[in-house]
Amino acid sequence: MIFKILLLLILIPISIFAVERPSVKHDIFLQGTDYELHVYRIYGKEAGTKGLIIGGIQGDEPGGYLSADMYVDSVIEKGDLIVVPRANFKSIILFNRGADGDMNRRFIDDKTQHEMDKVVEILKSLMGEVDFFLHLHDGSGFYDPKYVNKLRNPNRWGQSIIVDTDSITCNGKTIEMKSIALQVIKETNKKIKNDNYHFKYFNTDTDNPKTKYKDMKKTATYYALKNFCIPSYGLETSKNLPNDETKLRHKSYLIDEFLKIYGIKSKKLDIFLPKPILKSITLEIDNKTEEISNYSVLELNQNQKIKIEKISSNYYRGLSCDILGFNGLNDKDLYYIVRDDTTIRCKKDHITIGEIKIKVKKDEEVKKFLVSIDGKDEYLENGSSIRIKPGSNIVIGNFDNNSSIPVNLRGFLVEGATYNDGDDRNIKITISEKNLIKRFSKNNNGKEYEVIAGTLNNILGKFLLIIDNN
Ligand SMILES: [Zn+2]
Repeated sequence: MIFKILLLLILIPISIFAVERPSVKHDIFLQGTDYELHVYRIYGKEAGTKGLIIGGIQGDEPGGYLSADMYVDSVIEKGDLIVVPRANFKSIILFNRGADGDMNRRFIDDKTQHEMDKVVEILKSLMGEVDFFLHLHDGSGFYDPKYVNKLRNPNRWGQSIIVDTDSITCNGKTIEMKSIALQVIKETNKKIKNDNYHFKYFNTDTDNPKTKYKDMKKTATYYALKNFCIPSYGLETSKNLPNDETKLRHKSYLIDEFLKIYGIKSKKLDIFLPKPILKSITLEIDNKTEEISNYSVLELNQNQKIKIEKISSNYYRGLSCDILGFNGLNDKDLYYIVRDDTTIRCKKDHITIGEIKIKVKKDEEVKKFLVSIDGKDEYLENGSSIRIKPGSNIVIGNFDNNSSIPVNLRGFLVEGATYNDGDDRNIKITISEKNLIKRFSKNNNGKEYEVIAGTLNNILGKFLLIIDNN
């Protein structure tokens, strides 16, 4: 009995904290905003070291977010990864380094000032969950400690591993970064045939008062190193590499080597970057779901309510649709009331992959009514009123050559008819209090009756008919 209780006490906390292995946990923050943030926790088959990979903090560095994607889809034998492929979704959609300023200069102990700082706060908290941090970037040119030429010199960042210091002692332990980065570079460069693309070690010496890189104190890697005492590296592939595939290949060489050194055994998918396409979007239209294929034109009534439920593409991440003229850039999952013609423009990252046009069915306002009173034609302005003697015969005609819009004298029922079709055009109507149903008159006065064009739900024009007893 005592043994059983002990066993229960031991098992309960384990069952609360245990994660299913292997598994992937996907959390979405700031959903339906431009800074929507997707966080993937990939738990390996066996527990071990935990690493954090962040890409896309600057929107014009596809080598970062596209290579991070590869690790979301990886299978981990041992250890865990937290992957945030697109830290700065708004800037990625706009292919802008920082649409609202540089997010990688916001890792400061400041109160949340900008919308993007909400993302920064989440990233900071993720740093507290892991043993090491890889920050993925694309840098301009090629870093070289010596000046070689305009594109290759100490002021360039591409093809380098950046650290704030060679090593640091914190929380009673010494973190070596130089030796690990050099090992990664050595192994990576063996795989790159072109010497011009070889990686170099770049220590910004951030805490040195004489450093040229004071701004690095505001970056994610510096924050993680100083606040969480974890080894943190900036992985820069060059923006000047021939294509995104090369950036991904080089970046994955680096990442794989870091994972190996830190004891994470993982298998990722091959690099595969097909041209992104939009197949369809799924819309909720007035509570019904409809799949709309790319480049179609959707006719909707004014005031219909729509919501983008699903974006179907040959990619699963980096997708957004913007209902032009509404909200921000990322309008999935938001309700939109249709007012005017618009376009739903969909993107994979910054690449436009499709458009769906929304055309609003609009009936034109009726400006003039044609009414024949005892054989004499009269044109009545929309909103006007007319006095008619009892016993007069009137015929309401078509107007504006538009025969599709009905005109209804409210309270009049064709003699002998059992059903009112709501259209009283081209019928001789003898005006008298008897021929008109009093409860339809204005204020139930039995004198004033409305003539409306269109339907009661969609009145396109009207005039007032007043029975003139004087
Ligand atoms: Zn960058």
